[in-house]
Amino acid sequence: MSRTREWHLVRRPKGAPTDEDFRLVEVDLPQPRADDVVVRNTWLSVDPYMRGRMDDRKSYVAPFELGAPMDGGAVGVVEQVGSDVHDLTVGDTVLHGHGWRERFVTSRTRVQRVDPDAAPPQAYLGVMGMPGLTAYVGLLAVARMKPDETVFVSGAAGAVGSLVGQIARLKGAAAVIGSAGGPAKTAWLVDELGFDAAIDYKAVRAQGASLRSALREKAPDGVDVYFDNVGGEHLEAAIACLRLNGRAAICGMISQYNAVAPVPGPANLPLLIQNRLTLRGFLVGDHADARPAFAADMSGWLQDGRIVWRETVVDGLENAVAAFRDLLSGGNTGKMLVRLPQ
Ligand code: NAP
Repeated sequence: MSRTREWHLVRRPKGAPTDEDFRLVEVDLPQPRADDVVVRNTWLSVDPYMRGRMDDRKSYVAPFELGAPMDGGAVGVVEQVGSDVHDLTVGDTVLHGHGWRERFVTSRTRVQRVDPDAAPPQAYLGVMGMPGLTAYVGLLAVARMKPDETVFVSGAAGAVGSLVGQIARLKGAAAVIGSAGGPAKTAWLVDELGFDAAIDYKAVRAQGASLRSALREKAPDGVDVYFDNVGGEHLEAAIACLRLNGRAAICGMISQYNAVAPVPGPANLPLLIQNRLTLRGFLVGDHADARPAFAADMSGWLQDGRIVWRETVVDGLENAVAAFRDLLSGGNTGKMLVRLPQ
């Protein structure tokens, strides 16, 4: 029987996760059945939503169990197929939800073959995968961005945000403004991704200035669409700058994922009435119907070199928790990934 390693959550984090909340465990790999496949992971995704799964509370996805392997998006190579599996072969690349581990045995039905010639395998965890679809549906289906509108996106140098700004530009936005932490990230947005302006929210904070004034300066005529990855002060600043009939796609609120006490809401909600604003939360999982349109658009843009995408790669399963903790504190530009031996 062969052995494999997997990450377990062993304690629910209070505030920011610490190394002591996790344990790397060696286990036996079960014997595959006739309809099973054995997969060796090559890329693991770490995503902000996983922080929510570390808490013991009801949500749209079940909490991680203590003392059990964590899961999440990953890509791997098929090492073995059961005798009843006829549509996958050894060496195929597959996308699946068995992340946070080296190897695993699962039913054929739990993995999906992807074409590693159409895009690098790890792109199916980023630009061609869940974060890409999130950006696409959030901007176009949820916020219903139209040509000639002004778009503001927070978390703009991350996996989702960096694509939101570029899709907005490709779909004819009049101006795209992004917010991110630090000068290297804001320079990347403007110099390489084609954003019209970027706000370094950490510099704004360090200067004791307000995010609302910084956004007003970049968008003096206001914003039509806000794509929220951050919540808190960013959401309040966006509400202050949204124009008449403005819309916000509420995608994530990473500024409060580690909060240990209730976080006050935006103080300026009466503006929703005055300016007839729409704030709409969404989950990418509800938008599977948009996948074909997304895949067609995104693969075309990638082929034409019209989308820039970047990865921050951390090597080794033993560093997966460090990668996740770094993601929550802005250690990534573009998609945060863990690379295992190829
Ligand atoms: P990401 O943006 O690649 O990484 C997270 C980024 O958040 C960090 O790089 C950091 O960048 C920023 N951040 C952390 N703490 C912050 C704070 N206090 N204030 C402002 N920024 C902060 O992650 P992602 O995978 O693309 O996800 C982005 C957001 O979308 C998350 O909120 C996530 O939960 C959400 N999401 C939602 C769905 C959905 O279906 N609704 C699907 C996917 C993702 P800086 O250096 O700029 O601070």
